[in-house]
Amino acid sequence: MSFVLNFLSNLARQRILNRYRALLPAIRRRQQALRGSDPAALTATLRQSAEPSLVDACANVLVACDQLEGQSFQILEENVVWRILPFDSQILGGLVLFHNQVAEMGTGEGKTLSAVVAAYLSFLHKRKVHVITANDYLAQRDSIWMKPVFDKLGCTVGLLAPDQTAAQRQAAYRCDVLYATASALIFDYLGDNGLISAADQRLQQGQDFAIVDEADSVLIDEARTPLVISGRKESDLSLYTKLHKPVLEVHKLQAKYVAGLEAAVAEAVAAGNLAHPELGRNLYLIQQADPNNEHLQQWLMESPIRKKLEEFQDKTEGNSHATAELHNRGYYSISQRDHSIHLSDTCQEQFAKLLGRSLVIPDLSAQINRLEQSAQSDEEKQRQREALSIEMDTVAAQLNTINQLIKAYALYRRDIEYIVRDGAIVLIDTNTGRPLPGRHFSDGLHQAVELKERLCMSPESQTLAETSIQNFIRQYKCLGGMTGTARIEADEFLDTYKLDVIPIPPHKKCIRRVQPDLHFKSLDAKLARLMADIRQVHAQGRPILVGTSSVQESELVSARLKALGLEHSVLNAKNHAREATIIAQAGRRDAITIATSMAGRGTDIKLAPGVAELGGLHIVGTTRHYLRRLDDQLLGRCARQGDPGSVQFYLSLEDDLLKEAKVPVARYMGFFKADDAGIHHLFINKVVEETQEKFSGYFHAARRQLVAFDNIVSTQRQQIFAMRNDIVDGALSSEQLLQEHLAEMQAAGKSCLDWFKHTFPISFKQDPADAPAPLVEIYKEAIGQCAAQLGFDKKAFDRMVLLGNLDEYWRDYITALGNLKEGAQLMSYAQTDPVTDFGNKSAKMFIQFLEQYRNTVFKRVFPTVAMLRQQQPRRR
Ligand code: ADP
Ligand code: MG
Repeated sequence: MSFVLNFLSNLARQRILNRYRALLPAIRRRQQALRGSDPAALTATLRQSAEPSLVDACANVLVACDQLEGQSFQILEENVVWRILPFDSQILGGLVLFHNQVAEMGTGEGKTLSAVVAAYLSFLHKRKVHVITANDYLAQRDSIWMKPVFDKLGCTVGLLAPDQTAAQRQAAYRCDVLYATASALIFDYLGDNGLISAADQRLQQGQDFAIVDEADSVLIDEARTPLVISGRKESDLSLYTKLHKPVLEVHKLQAKYVAGLEAAVAEAVAAGNLAHPELGRNLYLIQQADPNNEHLQQWLMESPIRKKLEEFQDKTEGNSHATAELHNRGYYSISQRDHSIHLSDTCQEQFAKLLGRSLVIPDLSAQINRLEQSAQSDEEKQRQREALSIEMDTVAAQLNTINQLIKAYALYRRDIEYIVRDGAIVLIDTNTGRPLPGRHFSDGLHQAVELKERLCMSPESQTLAETSIQNFIRQYKCLGGMTGTARIEADEFLDTYKLDVIPIPPHKKCIRRVQPDLHFKSLDAKLARLMADIRQVHAQGRPILVGTSSVQESELVSARLKALGLEHSVLNAKNHAREATIIAQAGRRDAITIATSMAGRGTDIKLAPGVAELGGLHIVGTTRHYLRRLDDQLLGRCARQGDPGSVQFYLSLEDDLLKEAKVPVARYMGFFKADDAGIHHLFINKVVEETQEKFSGYFHAARRQLVAFDNIVSTQRQQIFAMRNDIVDGALSSEQLLQEHLAEMQAAGKSCLDWFKHTFPISFKQDPADAPAPLVEIYKEAIGQCAAQLGFDKKAFDRMVLLGNLDEYWRDYITALGNLKEGAQLMSYAQTDPVTDFGNKSAKMFIQFLEQYRNTVFKRVFPTVAMLRQQQPRRR
């Protein structure tokens, strides 16, 4: 079935491509005819037209390129002579991009120029263009590199760079074409809609057309977490310092407890006694107590042992009494599913003694009920209700601190989940091995990891505004993407972004030699063979690029190369600022370059003279990655534009990917008589592919859930952004809010006058009518007078009161929403659908939020006046 569907969609794609291809002869003819003419002049004419001709437009770009040939330009540190006379494939790429599709073009095919074609076409259609790149370096390089063409065409180019002033950013946004990273654009978008206080501070002019380079990285890999602007939060970090030592002690005790279990398992395994009645239980306990336990991982590679664990799990999982009893052994247990922490009774008591309070969260609704039924005065009840909620808050904060500290020790590993750089924790994308500077673990985990690494704790931050990348990108009226590897994720491009993937045949036939994968039993055997192969290829003078999947692994390979006395450069998470320069030289004779899979992306590896004759660049994949697409990315770095090149992947049973395989690969390896020289077997290929598919499905589902949640928040966000923008633009005043509020009251049969008298400190000689209109008039007059006395423009005053309160409330609301979302995600193991649950609850919360906001605004208007009055003499 899926084969037929695939076949049909390939046919459809072919048809689309043929339609564009049919334009090529006319474009080339037009290019001849226009030779020597001024491209800017044609641009002016085309801009007049309602439906500018695609043929003329493409031809004009070609003419501009022709006229630049031989001229030299300074691009960052390099002097570059313009030699780009676009190939047909690049024009096709541009047309695909322009028509809301993803162009799949290999590395080195010249996508940078395809983006120019599409950007220019959009410019002629009077759309502002944002070219979104994978990092700041590429935005800068591409904007400078392509500027001569845009200049010739009479089209302005801008760049968003870090550390620009507001004025520089504003100027950049006014350009016809803007190069920027997604996070820079999102940052300004959130600022425009959530932080500014006057209309002239606004930077962006809407979302018209986006061309996304390295589309899989930007739209899929990076889109796994929402982007946030955060600010400092006033919070008490002393709890972390206070609990750090006791948690460390518990962690050590837990390690001892685990060691005891390990010894028992090791004994049974060594004696070959897999039928030992406690084996399954002990494995289960280790897994609960220390999910990353290395011995456990090794044992589980043997299928009979794994089976013992699975049997035990099946037996106990349904039995809540039994699981509770098991969770009470040791000091804490960690859930496999969501990494939630369960403290054992003993452990809880220890902490309770230390903190001088019970750590059991009281049952709020029962307590409130009891309170309501008691005979105390209303005031006393109110006091107790507040005391109760404070108590809940305190216990929850303490428990959270303990949990985060335990997680920091038990789950988060240095150089795998994070690195320490310049005295700070930098998160690592476990998919790509790249650092994610600026991202933080949330909810106190970051501080906990900092304590563990004995670093200074950074202040806790609060989310000021956030959006998912998906929902930001979907606001663009038109969207195009380009990358070397898109087909694998075609479904997701279509579901999430409504983008079809069109593969563009390479400009020259690809002659890459992909050697069959080599499989090994042990990591040592793998590395030995890998080193021998590197030595051999290196002896021929061919350059080698070694792709690794983690920082750790690149260091391992680097150490081995050093031991062999082979000179090499390492490109990993830790020095990626220089990535581009290093990788640009990876095509020189004798060069050996080690890189984590995404390092230096976007930079082309050109072969130095003579290298093609030796066989071109050789790529060594030290393992198969969790995602096939990232393997393909690595492989695409050699044999660009018809060059020769070869690829070899190596894989051992000890690699992370095979550890995750469902079938007992180890046994098959033995069966196939794998030796230290490595074997190749189709069966193992199949296992690898299946495991990769499993991961890709798993990541896809996680992103789908992220988007589903964010869709709900997004509708609310849009309403608040619209309201906020109205306030900033002076289109929404406090009287309008008052009018709405009173009208609702009247409709509900309540007295407007009573409320008015209780809310505003305004006195009247004679009671006005109990209706919205006269009351609004009175309010307006009173507020107008106050503003005038304080020397405020009435609009500015309104803006101050309305915005200040909105921002404060909205931030608290986002935090509350975040907690609700977390709660809903935990619920996903119950019967309800977490997204629907979150949707219902948050809709109610949002209505409450709006009501509360209105009430607060009115309650605070006159106190604000009083406060300003007090400040005024001092200011003068
Ligand atoms: P991609 O982004 O597809 O990997 P780039 O746009 O970085 O590729 O281009 C790769 C290299 O190919 C660059 O060095 C560029 O100068 C060169 N190049 C691109 N188009 C042409 C062309 N039409 N003729 C000659 N060289 C080209
Ligand atoms: Mg590129």
